[in-house]
Amino acid sequence: MTSLVSRNPADPSDVVAEFPAPGAFAVADAVERARTAQTGWAAAGAAARSAALSSIASAVEAAAGELAGLAVREVGKPLAEARAEVARTVAIWRYYAQAPYEPTGAVHEPAAGAGLLLTRRRPHGVAGLITPWNFPLAIPTWKAAPALATGNTVVLKPAPEATASALRLAEIVRGALPDDVFTVVPGGSVEGSALVSAADVVSFTGSSATGRQVVRAATDRGIPVQAEMGGLNAAVVLPDADIDRAAAHIAAAIAGYAGQKCTATSRVIAVGTALDPLREALAEALRAVPVGDPADPATVCGPLISAPARDRVAAAAQGAQVLAEGAAADGPGWYAPPLLLDKVPAGHQLLCEEVFGPIAALLPAEDLDQAVRITNAVPYGLVTSVHTADLDAALHGLDRLDTGMIRLNAPSTGVDFHLPFGGAKSSAHGPREQGRAALDFYTAGRTYTLTPHGG
Ligand code: NAD
Repeated sequence: MTSLVSRNPADPSDVVAEFPAPGAFAVADAVERARTAQTGWAAAGAAARSAALSSIASAVEAAAGELAGLAVREVGKPLAEARAEVARTVAIWRYYAQAPYEPTGAVHEPAAGAGLLLTRRRPHGVAGLITPWNFPLAIPTWKAAPALATGNTVVLKPAPEATASALRLAEIVRGALPDDVFTVVPGGSVEGSALVSAADVVSFTGSSATGRQVVRAATDRGIPVQAEMGGLNAAVVLPDADIDRAAAHIAAAIAGYAGQKCTATSRVIAVGTALDPLREALAEALRAVPVGDPADPATVCGPLISAPARDRVAAAAQGAQVLAEGAAADGPGWYAPPLLLDKVPAGHQLLCEEVFGPIAALLPAEDLDQAVRITNAVPYGLVTSVHTADLDAALHGLDRLDTGMIRLNAPSTGVDFHLPFGGAKSSAHGPREQGRAALDFYTAGRTYTLTPHGG
């Protein structure tokens, strides 16, 4: 039997969780039980579902310190970010606690004759949720909360690297729900693909390679599927930007959580005369990033999730010039210093693939048009940050960026939990997550024609 092991990335001798992988039958069984429970949950009414979600928010809030500590230990998330993730998790449960009271349809007049036409949205059934390790609390929550609010039941398959965090969150969530409304099945690809084979709707977040397989399998079954996947995000800096401020934002977006966010910046595009001052300011900002123990509240860049992930960062620096190297950390953890590369040739790995580490390329562009072309010249399209004082120029350029999200004078990282979140091209498939968009995804439309008897 395969074993699921998660280790502390800051001290790999510390085993955080070790479980036997339950296998595909356990997934099928969890989905069947969730399907039986769904009818009652959907019929429980808006007040019951709203109260349950509010009570989950309070219970997560009460366990905030413990959950943040677990995320630090299990996935190496710097403490300040782990605390922020827990706060966001609480806010998401609270936000969707209002959703059961939202209208689920509309009334229309018939084109001719008497009666009423109604449109109404109904839950799909069992939502199969597959999540990555890097946001072990917020991503399961931003999928589960709208799924539950709209009357679906949930089976969650978290990433094996984040098993303990997911199981602890699940314990808290289940305390406020009837049996089998929310189940976690730990596991890897076997359990993940079994979930795609059994659920009624699938929401996936993870790498583009896995996401493509999930989308194909769900599409073959004809069930709704959404996938949020990798990024190769650019920061575009125009000559009129506040260069020091832009450099601070970009350094944080390259090195924060060791670059292990789908929204991290990995390409920095300096337009015209922005290049020289930005080169200097960004190198300085990156060298100043606090690197080290994720349990230290001052740490910004902690360890990578695994030894292979750490080794990928050094390998990705080959073939280019290292312009700046950040601080090295002490200790046995899987640390890699943040890197800024210059003179990166076309076709270099960093310009084609997501490395998922604290590393970025500095690229020159003659003007905004060329910066837009460089930004768009990758298969990914998640988020782009643009740094300028000229809103007109920015708006002109922004319209041509082929990315799902644009952030002006802000780091590429950062999420507003109540807004739709999602990418373009191979960064995403299907409807967006979060906000009201999620309520639509977890429900299917139905049209009713109500004609008076004898009408
Ligand atoms: P991953 O693709 O390795 O795994 C994601 C999940 O899929 C895990 O739960 C894994 O066990 C499961 N899985 C693996 N094979 C499967 C299969 N054949 N069928 C079904 N499920 C399967 O990703 P990861 O390493 O956990 O996370 C890092 C990746 O996630 C990065 O690429 C990052 O950009 C991406 N990510 C994207 C977003 C976003 O919203 N766009 C957010 C966070 C992370």
